[in-house]
Amino acid sequence: MEEFRQEEITSALIRLIRKKREAIGRPVRIMEVCGTHTMTVYRYGLKPLLEEAGIDLLAGPGCPVCITPDDYHEIIIDLLTRRSKTIVATFGDMTRVPTAKGSLQTAVPAPSSRLKIIYSPLEALDLAQENPDCEVIFFGAGFETTIPSIAFTIKEARARGLKNFSLLAACWLIPPPLRAILESGEVAIDGFLYPGHVSTIIGSRPYRFIAEEFKIPGAITGFEPNDVLLGINSVLDQMMDARPEVAIEYRRVVSASGNPKALALMAEVFEVRDAFWRGLGLIPQSGLGLREEYHEFDTLKRFSLHLSPSEKSFNPGCRCGQVLRGLLRPPECPLYGRLCRPENPYGPCMVSYEGACLIHFKYGQRWS
Ligand code: SF4
Repeated sequence: MEEFRQEEITSALIRLIRKKREAIGRPVRIMEVCGTHTMTVYRYGLKPLLEEAGIDLLAGPGCPVCITPDDYHEIIIDLLTRRSKTIVATFGDMTRVPTAKGSLQTAVPAPSSRLKIIYSPLEALDLAQENPDCEVIFFGAGFETTIPSIAFTIKEARARGLKNFSLLAACWLIPPPLRAILESGEVAIDGFLYPGHVSTIIGSRPYRFIAEEFKIPGAITGFEPNDVLLGINSVLDQMMDARPEVAIEYRRVVSASGNPKALALMAEVFEVRDAFWRGLGLIPQSGLGLREEYHEFDTLKRFSLHLSPSEKSFNPGCRCGQVLRGLLRPPECPLYGRLCRPENPYGPCMVSYEGACLIHFKYGQRWS
């Protein structure tokens, strides 16, 4: 792994990227789809080096906390505050997203109810087993990386015979929003860096339409600094050769076909549905819901609730939707650093560790 962080290799790759970009003869704009890539680019100081080399990196929609609409948060806040003997279990970032009803962390639970931050979906099952007189609701958000473990949790809930456990699924698929961004034509993109961990599950094939239909190069990359640079280098090569493809620059983990066991597990428990994304609106076939056979574990069914997400926002000035579409950089939001800061976030992009605004705030101040 050492070579993926070695500074001499980083410098050599930057020089190579600059040379290739100069040969292309114009600035190159690449969307890094995944928030973890954004983190790598900022944390290792690649952002200014790449800017100097003429590479404009744009954050994309790859942060599940950021793209989950407020309605999901509000429905879970209602359950926590109105139902007694209810335990809401979720990942830490999800508890801080501000909505018109506050956040899960500021909500006052109903008597004998509580919020529990968990690190693994299986912890929610243990909670259900340990608290048989309570309803345990797992608010599970994630992309294809996390979804197999959520699917496993549902199967395990059945195997354990749990009757007091359910899932509010905020489960999203990465390729469909990329099509939505390209079809909108709002932002010109020369290439994509595809998320390494999502691609571990889905492989490279689901991105092929981007190369074939839109003629846009792309590379699946890992999360070390030199991984990211190798991905950019591949995109430039494809541009120079006018040969767009889905390159795998993360071969130590990713294959073309992905992980068939994980994909089968997802398909067994979930079905693909149209879903609403913050900032991107309704995207066909971009989300997952529990299959009929698993409806006993569906929070919405269990409590007769209905989700009807819309493009509403806690603060009308919040521009997270535009940040997620690559239309706005965090400092261009009028609230950035003034009303919206990590200790007082106005939008989810300032909450999540994969959120572009939080990452820029933590690491980007040095050079912006
Ligand atoms: Fe949203 Fe805050 Fe970022 Fe503005 S600065 S886009 S309000 S998270």
